[in-house]
This record gives sequence, C-alpha cells and structure tokens, in this order.
Amino acid sequence: MFDKILIANRGEIALRVLRACRELGIRTVAVHSEADAEAKYVKLADESVCIGPASSAQSYLNIPRIIAAAEVTDAEAIHPGYGFLSENADFAERVESSGFVFIGPRPETIRLMGDKVSAKQAMIEAGVPCVPGSGGALPDDPKEIVKIARAIGYPVIIKASGGGGGRGMRVVHTESALISSVATTRTEAGAAFGNPTVYMEKFLENPRHIEIQVLVDEHGHAIYLGERDCSMQRRHQKVIEEAPAPGIDRKLIAKVGEACVAACKRINYRGAGTFEFLYENGEFFFIEMNTRVQVEHPVTELITGIDIVQEQIRVAAGEKLRNTQKDVHLRGHAIECRINAEDPFKFTPSPGKIVTWHTPGGPGIRVDSHVFTGYTVPPHYDSMIGKVIAYGDTREQAIRRLRIALSEMAVEGIKTNIPLHQEMLMDSHFLQGGMSIHYLEKKLAGNT
Ligand code: ADP
Repeated sequence: MFDKILIANRGEIALRVLRACRELGIRTVAVHSEADAEAKYVKLADESVCIGPASSAQSYLNIPRIIAAAEVTDAEAIHPGYGFLSENADFAERVESSGFVFIGPRPETIRLMGDKVSAKQAMIEAGVPCVPGSGGALPDDPKEIVKIARAIGYPVIIKASGGGGGRGMRVVHTESALISSVATTRTEAGAAFGNPTVYMEKFLENPRHIEIQVLVDEHGHAIYLGERDCSMQRRHQKVIEEAPAPGIDRKLIAKVGEACVAACKRINYRGAGTFEFLYENGEFFFIEMNTRVQVEHPVTELITGIDIVQEQIRVAAGEKLRNTQKDVHLRGHAIECRINAEDPFKFTPSPGKIVTWHTPGGPGIRVDSHVFTGYTVPPHYDSMIGKVIAYGDTREQAIRRLRIALSEMAVEGIKTNIPLHQEMLMDSHFLQGGMSIHYLEKKLAGNT
C-alpha cells in the first residue's frame, strides 16, 4: 500500500479522498490555489502545497506544478478526484512517466473512452447496447449526412466527439435544419474542445439517465455495483441522484451490468468507472463512460457497503478486489441532493461568506462537504458546496429522512438550492419515481 498520496483536486472530493486515505493509514498531500489556502482539506492534510493563483488554468489544471508538488513531497501516487484533470489522458501519462502512480485507468483507456466516437465504437464491439447513430464521425458530404439522418429517423442529436459537461450537442427535428446544425456544432466543438469531429445519434425524447458503477483490478477481476438513476437534471447537470433506480427489471440491469463488466475486460480497464446509459421503453442505450469517481458515488456506497474511493486506491496499489460479484448485494435505498451555492430558482451563483453552517445528522444521513461556518465560497469554481445523502430501508424512508435532514440544515450568508430540493422531495411525480431527464426542467417551467 502507498505511504503518501497527493490529492490533485479541491472541495468536497479532496476531503472525501483525504478521509479514505486516513482510514487506510496513508499520509496525504493537498494542493491548493491561493483562493483555497484556508480550505478544510488543506488544514486536515498532512502536508500542503500552493500550486498557483485562483484561476483553475493556473492551479488545478497546471500539470507541471502538480507534478512538482508530488516530487517535493515524495508522494507515491496521485488521486485526481473528478473534474479538473481527472479525465485528461496527457496528465495521467505525465504522472506515470514522472514515476508516480495515477489512481485511475491507464492513459490509453482514458483516451479511448474520452473520445465519444471511439468510445461508442469500442462499446459496439464489446456488445454493449448503444443509441442508434452514425456509427462513427459524420462525413463532410452533405448528401451522406442527409442519408444517415434518414436512416436513423428524426429527431436526431448532433454531438461533439470531444464534448463534455453537457455541452456540444444540438437536437435536429427536420431535414431543413440538418446541414446548418451540423456546421454550427462542428464550429462550436472546434472552438470549445479543440476537436471539430461530430457524430449523430437518434434523439430519445423521454429517456431516463441510468448509470452502472464498475470496479476493476489488475488481476482480471471486474464487478458492477448496481446502478444509479440520475434523471433529475437541469441543463444536463445532475441535481438529485438515487440508487437503485426505481421500477426497472432487475434481470435487465444484471444483463447490462454483465455487459459493462465484459467491456471493461475487453478495453483493459482499471479502477472505478461509470457507464452512462439512456433508458427508454425498457431498453438501455450507452452514451458515454466516465473514467473516474463520480460526484454521486455515495449512493452506491450506501446501498452496497463498498467504499469506492478506498477500492480505487487499493486497486491502484496493485491489490485484488476484495469482493466478487456474488458478494455485491444491494440493500435499501439512497438518495443524494447536491447542495449548490446558487439562487434556488434563478440558478445564478451565490459565492461569499457562510455565516452559519449547520449540518443535519441522525440515522441514515451522510453529509459530504468541505465548508464550515466562516468559510468563504470562492467565485472561481463550481458552485457545489456539498452533498446530503440519505439512506433508508425503502425509497420512502430515504425520502422522509432527506426531507427532515434538509429542514434541519441552516445555511446563512449565501443562497443555496436547498429550497428547490425541498420542493422536489414533495413533488408527486418525483415521489412516484421513474421520471425522465426532462422532468425537472419541465417542472421549473411550470409544465407539470
Ligand atoms: P456529456 O459528456 O456532455 O455529459 P452525454 O453524452 O453524457 O454528454 O450526454 C449528456 C446528457 O445529454 C444526457 O444525460 C442526456 O440528458 C442528453 N443526451 C445525450 N444524448 C442523447 C440522446 N441521444 N437522446 C436524448 N438525450 C441525450
């Protein structure tokens, strides 16, 4: 096992990784920007290194500074968390060529799955069901593009191969809009992701977002830890996540889970990962893979009893997975609300000083957050300041516990989206379960 790990991230995930390291008896190095010097994870880490000014480009995305921090502190491995450099194959490569262990998949796997066209191709070859589409990058010839769209059937969605974070997508309903939409998406993708390659998929009108968590070691063992339902989204950003997904045939999930495990072996995967699917009319369609730990990993931890971050670290240290598929039993239900520093209904960011921060507790409540009374939420980063997760024997119990938890929570000085969560936890359609990815936006627009 490692003696010392550098955590190349900030906020709640830096703290989450730090706690996993402590439990494993591993010393930690926090890296931070000038804006995060007072952060909790920095104070709790055994050592810390300032890697640059507030701007992410100069700090959390600054590869040479992070490598240098690992060198001066003698860290053995680097955990990238999520976001920032976590899915950057060049970073993973630099980490390894500098003599450190990257806590994640091999660089070539990150590269393969980071490009959506090659990822989809790999999944088709592995027998994972995918959204019907162009089966590769769109050609230049407009006539060919029209033919492909006709074969798929409208509406279609044009997606950037290098896209991420819900950006670089355009829905096309009619042939007259097709060619200009492809051209605009190409131009935008080139500017935003440095890669103008686009592909086409059938646009599913009412799907749910269901994802499968996997864990893979270097000894040929791979398992899946059930699924998560992340359909409550706004602008393709997840807001509430839960596990298991309500109302889906367990046999079908097992089949998809097994396909994911087989795919992992085929692409020589290593570590934790997530296969994201759209689910509609009883069918699963792969859209992309995340080659890192996800924000919503706690709901899976609560229903399986498996610590995903610790497993990532163990696998990176060359250990075998401690569970076989037979050991994975889903028990109860867990729901997570992402707490954002923002206006709950206008969604404008609300950075600033937190003058009161009181977190809830009690049976089945877990709060993963790096903030505290007196903490100033910097304006430079993502607005998420924590997650409140409730566990219950049943979905109803988890929801009741979550409602009570949010009512006990007191945050003053900044605005948060807690009122939106409270409303959702009383919403009759949400309570029924199984709503599509468009439900939250429809509700916000007053159309439910
Ligand atoms: P990103 O990497 O930007 O998150 P994804 O491919 O995961 O992109 O898609 C993000 C979201 O966009 C999905 O969760 C879903 O809401 C929507 N989406 C993507 N592809 C389709 C599709 N073929 N049909 C309908 N919605 C889609």
